[in-house]
Amino acid sequence: MLNQQSDSLPNKLVDKKVVLVLFHNDLRIDDNATVTKAATLAENNNGSLLLVYADSLADSIEVSNVTQASDSQAYQFDELGAARAQFLAESLADLDESLQRLGNRLLYLTSRQPSKPNDELKTSTFAQLCQMIEQQHVTDICVSRTADYAQNQVYALLQEKYPQIMWHSQSTNTLFALLPIEELPKSFTQFRKKIESNHNLLSAKDDVVLSGITELKPQASEPQAWPSLPNNLLINDSNLLFEMPKTEQPSTSEFKGGATSALSHVHDYFHSDAPSTYKITRNALDDWTSSTKFSAWLANGSLSVNLLLNRLRQYEREVVANDSTYWIWFELLWREYFYWYALVHQQRLFWFKGIAQQPPTTSLDETRLAQWKTGTTPYPIVNACMKQLLQTGYMSNRGRQIVASCLIHELGLDWRYGATHFEQYLIDYDVASNWGNWQYLAGVGADPRGCRHFNLAKQTQQYDPSGSFIFKWQGDNTDDYVLS
Ligand code: FAD
Repeated sequence: MLNQQSDSLPNKLVDKKVVLVLFHNDLRIDDNATVTKAATLAENNNGSLLLVYADSLADSIEVSNVTQASDSQAYQFDELGAARAQFLAESLADLDESLQRLGNRLLYLTSRQPSKPNDELKTSTFAQLCQMIEQQHVTDICVSRTADYAQNQVYALLQEKYPQIMWHSQSTNTLFALLPIEELPKSFTQFRKKIESNHNLLSAKDDVVLSGITELKPQASEPQAWPSLPNNLLINDSNLLFEMPKTEQPSTSEFKGGATSALSHVHDYFHSDAPSTYKITRNALDDWTSSTKFSAWLANGSLSVNLLLNRLRQYEREVVANDSTYWIWFELLWREYFYWYALVHQQRLFWFKGIAQQPPTTSLDETRLAQWKTGTTPYPIVNACMKQLLQTGYMSNRGRQIVASCLIHELGLDWRYGATHFEQYLIDYDVASNWGNWQYLAGVGADPRGCRHFNLAKQTQQYDPSGSFIFKWQGDNTDDYVLS
């Protein structure tokens, strides 16, 4: 957890502030209390502003307790899946464009140099960040609160290393700034009931006012110009400025990263009929309008969940409020629940036995795992979903439940390998939602009913009766498969 200093404590050593924003899952400017805070601090103190995204920051330090020694293999992968990497790059490029319009730039720290494969690896992003902090005499660091255990370890390490720097952490990623009830209940249902009885967020009468957000058009509150980068940094280190990596082909995906696309999707979605039928259509395996498709933008913070809820309430006031619009809220509450769940349980989110007393009886079998990952199991519905994930970076919620159940029950595999594969490929990867859902399905998490085992034949019959989904994603190429 952040060891936050009070904002009222004056920093007597310097009067000119150098404020550093460390972006993580808050890749937007609109409705982003972290960047607003940083800009205000710099502006009021004749200072400058360093806006930084540090790639794989947590990977570059030794994060204790996430893994137990024998588990460490479960958490490794070489590089992000192509769709996830592309979505992130687009998100950063969009953020950089917005910052340029305000007179600043996004600084990008990375230890990878894909364009120069023969060069030696650069120093770790953590080391680069420390160098920047020291060279630029950073006085204040602004971050958004996160449930990401490893990222929080990085923040703790920085605070320990630089006790003179003032830390400012804001809530930008959740509906509630603090756990909205006394303590986190063991089940989602109890959590939801408590929220709904304690907070008037179901009201469709007024704009929802959360975390100080009242505007449906966040551009209205956007500052016109911001403090710029320190001059010496721009001149000496222009290679730090974010540049969109060159890809061989332009993306054809409907998911385009960045706040601009996020707002455009919000606009289109709520100008369609889709919200009014969400509860009926949400389980479809492969249809753009069947579910909201907001998850990827929410996950990296290019979309504000408060803005989304406001737009939902506006739709309820102006178009219709029904079971379906309620269910969108219901699902957003699941997201909220897993955020607080991850914060409460910390490194236990990654443990084989999760928050349970006993570990599951499953284990690792490399061959079966490879078959699951590549979509070559004996189960066409599972294969189709896994191929969809590899090609697009997305899989429906129904699909995720089906493939997770298959990994755990049919293939008898350790659930953490499934979670790690999702981490590598999902464009909407979110540490809390991913690991929380996997624990839930593996019976070591927040599910009072224990393990969920789906009947794959029944699921296929129900969700792909014509076989069109399996056909589209070539899920039935199982001729050579022998269950080892
Ligand atoms: P919708 O059905 O339109 O739901 C609206 C929003 O509610 C979503 O965008 C999402 O923010 C939230 N939401 C919906 N269902 C859940 C849920 N079960 N848990 C938490 N939030 C939810 N979601 C992620 O955002 N990131 C992940 O890494 C992730 N990993 C998952 C792993 C497994 C094994 C499972 C079963 C689910 C996972 N989910 C994850 C939850 C869910 O599958 C996705 O949020 C959803 O499919 C995204 O599509 P959508 O935006 O159209 O969702």
